[in-house]
Amino acid sequence: MSNMEEIIVDSAMSFAEAIEGTTAPEEIIDNLSFLDVFYYSFDGKRHQGQIVVNSDLEDDVWKIFELIEELKFPVGKVIPIAGYQWDDYKSMAANNSSGFNFRVIAGTTKLSMHSLGRAVDINPAQNPIIYPDGEIAPAGALYQPGTTGTIAADHPVVQAFLERGWHWGGNFEQPKDYHHFEKP
Ligand SMILES: [Zn+2]
Repeated sequence: MSNMEEIIVDSAMSFAEAIEGTTAPEEIIDNLSFLDVFYYSFDGKRHQGQIVVNSDLEDDVWKIFELIEELKFPVGKVIPIAGYQWDDYKSMAANNSSGFNFRVIAGTTKLSMHSLGRAVDINPAQNPIIYPDGEIAPAGALYQPGTTGTIAADHPVVQAFLERGWHWGGNFEQPKDYHHFEKP
């Protein structure tokens, strides 16, 4: 990548800022990695974001973002969810892609894979979660495979996750969580 190319910095937090306010226990925090990632956003420009993931998965996530950049697959923005007060709905509404978030699965008391940094969400506005009753989050989103920033089963980004042993939420029975990838 040419050094002359302008980079738009979407996130420039310290690690302390990226975990500020989390309720996660120390042993989880000790196993997190903090990565700078590079991608083209919907404006066609190269951006730099940051993501917090489990240290075991650092290499997978780095390589997948390398592919995302190479393909120029547009990613809206990648900002640690601390920037959205740990509120997944706010983050989704901003079409933010993210990893670690110590929280339960919406509507349950079960901890999400995001709690361990073992899940990554990509472009929730193009790849919403659709519940069995038809409710969609983020509100107003549409899932239209083939459109820009949207992933489907045959998409190289989905394949890159699957090849590394991740599961894709689009393959979940219910709800269909098209932006979600996890590696338990
Ligand atoms: Zn998710």
